[in-house]
Amino acid sequence: MDYENFFRTQIAALKNEGRYRVFANLERRAGSFPKAVCRDCTGAEREVTVWCSNDYLGMGQHEAVLSAMHRALDEVGAGAGGTRNISGTNNYHVLLERELAELHGKEGALLFTSGYVSNDATLTTLGKILPGCVILSDALNHNSMITGIRNSGAEKHIFRHNDPKHLDELLSQISPDRPKVVAFESVYSMDGDIAPIHDICDVAEKHGALTYIDEVHAVGMYGAQGGGVSERDGAADRLTIIEGTLGKAFGVQGGYITGSNALIDCIRSFAAGFIFSTSLSPVLAAGALASVRHLRNSQAERERHQERAATLKRMLGEAGLPVMPSVSHIVPVMVGDPRRCKQATDELMERHGIYVQPINYPTVPRGTERLRFTPTPLHGDAEMARLVDALLDVWSRLDLRLAA
Ligand SMILES: *Cc1c(COP(=O)(O)O)cnc(C)c1O
Repeated sequence: MDYENFFRTQIAALKNEGRYRVFANLERRAGSFPKAVCRDCTGAEREVTVWCSNDYLGMGQHEAVLSAMHRALDEVGAGAGGTRNISGTNNYHVLLERELAELHGKEGALLFTSGYVSNDATLTTLGKILPGCVILSDALNHNSMITGIRNSGAEKHIFRHNDPKHLDELLSQISPDRPKVVAFESVYSMDGDIAPIHDICDVAEKHGALTYIDEVHAVGMYGAQGGGVSERDGAADRLTIIEGTLGKAFGVQGGYITGSNALIDCIRSFAAGFIFSTSLSPVLAAGALASVRHLRNSQAERERHQERAATLKRMLGEAGLPVMPSVSHIVPVMVGDPRRCKQATDELMERHGIYVQPINYPTVPRGTERLRFTPTPLHGDAEMARLVDALLDVWSRLDLRLAA
């Protein structure tokens, strides 16, 4: 086989569809986020405004986080030096797990090297160890959950997105004796909609199913302590497992699950993705610990974040741009064509110094390609006005549709 030719053909097909991904070479400057320096392929630098960061609250440059990380680095060095079992458990891991368990009102927590790994490893393990397990998965679940479910080898059924009635129908057809897992998210990050957690828990309880919620796009941002939508809605104690990331609103890196002691002990003891990987750097654990602690006690970031998102949605709507309805901090704007979506982002960058990634298939269904803005507490009114003007310019140049 001509391997090189095969690889080139695959890439050519992606480019042809307008789905080829180009990474922006960005250097966020601590203290001036959302401004960053972007380098093109010639090495030329220019200042841009980042409009698509998942560092939703700007905690990646927060003084408490940075100083905790500097201190940890000087105290204990760079890496963990091993898996958790073989010399890689540090006091920062222990403290962070305790803090995360408290955050979600659970007995225990377990750290992973990323949110992706936490979903994959936990769902793989659950589906494998529960005898005859059936997993019910929301149609819009993240790839990390889908991969975990597939890797578990368990029987899988997909329920319509955020549809507890359909979930009920599917569960009714499964033998009551079989163990069942209902896996879903709280905030869906591409549409910005939110799951009816209590309704899903009602159905799961009726059928004796365990519940697994991914709160990656909610932790730090919702609830009185940043415990996510489950905290906001008073539903945390109804969920068997709450999963989150330390890499988005908490601004650092890593993932985790929280749950009962017995469950956490089981995943700790059987999940390959936990056991056989070098643990999170203690520097990252120290930074995440500082971030979680700060956000448990401070409302300012959460309040300003919600206000900023509402303001941007209002400004886009008033300008006639096709902002999609979203009940969360996510602000999607519909383009509906992959090539023009990419073109729009290229023009925003080149003509206006505005950086936003095109969101194309397979991240969203074909025909719903979009721009996805994530205003943070650090995006000011002037920046928002500049964004709206830039979008109007690009919309008119590319002859894109305005809102009806
Ligand atoms: C980003 C994301 C993850 C993965 O978390 P990381 O910490 O970035 O690996 C998991 N679930 C959802 C819904 C995500 O968007």
